[in-house]
Amino acid sequence: MNLPGAVSLREVGPRDGLQNEDPVPAAAKIELIDALSRTGVRRIEAVSFVHPKAIPQMADADEVWAAVAKEPGVRYSALVPNTRGARRALDNGFREIEVVVSASDTHNRRNVNRSTAESLDDIAELITLLHAEGATAEVIVSTSWGCPFEGDVPVERVVSVVDRVLADGADRIAFGDTTGMATPTRVVALVDAVREKHPDVPLLLHFHNTRGTALANVLAALQLGVTEFDASVGGLGGCPYAPGATGNLASEELVHMLEDMGVHTGVDLAALIECARLAERIAGRELPSGVLRAGPRVPQSR
Ligand code: ZN
Repeated sequence: MNLPGAVSLREVGPRDGLQNEDPVPAAAKIELIDALSRTGVRRIEAVSFVHPKAIPQMADADEVWAAVAKEPGVRYSALVPNTRGARRALDNGFREIEVVVSASDTHNRRNVNRSTAESLDDIAELITLLHAEGATAEVIVSTSWGCPFEGDVPVERVVSVVDRVLADGADRIAFGDTTGMATPTRVVALVDAVREKHPDVPLLLHFHNTRGTALANVLAALQLGVTEFDASVGGLGGCPYAPGATGNLASEELVHMLEDMGVHTGVDLAALIECARLAERIAGRELPSGVLRAGPRVPQSR
């Protein structure tokens, strides 16, 4: 198999995960981020700076971030919806900032009441602001492999979004499989199409395991040389379009598979499973992670 020697895992449980759970106290978020920071994971999406009415789960982002023990060597990022959020993120010291746009017009309208084209204009301004402040801008393209309202999203449409944001100066691109509609051949089709036009763009993939294909999608991407993946501890964060369904790929499932295949993650699996237990206590429900349920395939020493 043609596999990279190492991958960079970004842990998104504290933001993407908890944003899709019932609200939890700030102290629990701080505890989770601090515990994750000690697992060897090098990137954590920590908070989002959104209007508290829009997303009450993140209303205490400033308080949470102020109390987090910023671990040297860990890159913490924040998600923002607009210029106002970007200002808050910058004021809080973030220099790695993410912004989302949906490749599907309908999904984008349902989320932010704007067309994809209108959001892209906003993002162009946002990128200018972030760069002026010395921050990087990652554009997360959601519904990259399908939309809960429109169904299939053509590869060309996703590529056209990438074309536009790169022309506007985006530093990195992430593709989100928002409702778990990707399969390995679709992953290959999109990554190939983007690489053909933009061979050097840093690419991060964000899979949901809604239909059980997340690790298969990771494997397909690995064989194309993709080395950046999002995952959420315990699989924290459900699917907003299918109550009770699985959302994010669980970090410990990803680390478990990669490390056993000799793909280095730098993450201590035993410590990560402890974090998944913590995440389960915080969420107050059983989380959908096979590795959390079954444990690692061989006993781990810590
Ligand atoms: Zn997600």
